[in-house]
Amino acid sequence: MDLGLQGRWALVCASSKGLGRACAQSLVGEGVNVVITARGAEALERTAAELRALNPAVQVRAVAGDIATEAGRAAALAACPQVDILVNNAGGPPPGDFRDWDRAAWLAALEANMLTPIELIKATVDAMAERGFGRIVNITSGAVKAPIDTLGLSNGARSGLTGFVAGLARQPRLAGRNVTINNLLPGAFDTERLGKTMGAAAAKTGQTLEQVMAKRAAAIPAQRLGQAAEFGALCAMLCSAHAGYLTGQNILLDGGAYPGTF
Ligand code: NAP
Repeated sequence: MDLGLQGRWALVCASSKGLGRACAQSLVGEGVNVVITARGAEALERTAAELRALNPAVQVRAVAGDIATEAGRAAALAACPQVDILVNNAGGPPPGDFRDWDRAAWLAALEANMLTPIELIKATVDAMAERGFGRIVNITSGAVKAPIDTLGLSNGARSGLTGFVAGLARQPRLAGRNVTINNLLPGAFDTERLGKTMGAAAAKTGQTLEQVMAKRAAAIPAQRLGQAAEFGALCAMLCSAHAGYLTGQNILLDGGAYPGTF
C-alpha cells in the first residue's frame, strides 16, 4: 500500500538509534524527508548517512542536541521547513525507588517525557491544521497501561503526557482539520536501552545477559522481543494519508504481554 506520504517533512526526535531510528527509517522508505536528532553527533551522522543511502530521493538532516532543552528543540524545528509529521521521543528516565528521587529527578523526567513533547506539539500543531494535514506520534511506553514499579518516573511523566494528549487530540480544530495525535506504547523491544536494563538485571542476579533475555522473552506470548523495524512500520502506518480517522489512541505493541481484554 502506498502510504501517501511522498514529499512530506517529518521531525523524528531522539532517532540515532532504537525505536526513533526505526520510525525515521520507515518514513524515509515512504519518501518522507526527515530531520533526525540525538545528543551524540557521531551515531547521529552515521544514521543520517545510512538513511540517505536507503532513499537518495529524500533529504535527511541531522541535528545534534538535547531535545529536552529549549535550544535543542529550537534547532530541530529550525532545520525542518515544515513539520507535517512529528514523532516525539526521548530517552526514558532511570529506574529506581521513589524514596531516592528528589525534585530534580522528577523535573528531569517531566521535562524529557512530558513537557518536551507538549512544547513540540504546541510549536507545530496549529500550522498542521492550517495546511489540513498533520500526524503526531508520541513514543511512550507499555508502562502507561501496566505500570512497572521501578519505573515510577516514567509511569508518572508519561501518564501526564497521555492525559494531556487525550484531550488535545479531540479538539475539533485539530481532529476536524486532518491532524491526528496518537501514542505508540512499546512493550519489550530489542534496542540498546533494553540491553542496558537487562545487563543491569543480569549483573544484579548473577545470571548471564542471555539468560535474562530468554526469561523476558518467555514471559511474552509472542515468545520473543519486538524488533525496532516492526515499531517503525506501525509508526509510518499511523502517519499515513489513510489514517486520518484514527486519533487520540494509545496503541500497545507488546507481543500480547498486556493480559487485559481492553
Ligand atoms: P535507545 O535504543 O537507547 O535509543 C534512544 C535514542 O534516543 C538514541 O538515539 C539517543 O541518542 C536518543 N536520545 C535519548 N535522549 C535524548 C535526548 N534527550 N535528546 C535527543 N536524543 C536523545 O532507546 P529505545 O529503546 O529506542 O527507547 C526509546 C523510548 O522508548 C525511550 O523513552 C524508552 O524509555 C521507551 N521505551 C522503550 C522500550 C524498549 O523495550 N526498548 C520499552 C518501553 C519504552 P543519544 O543518547 O546520543 O542522545
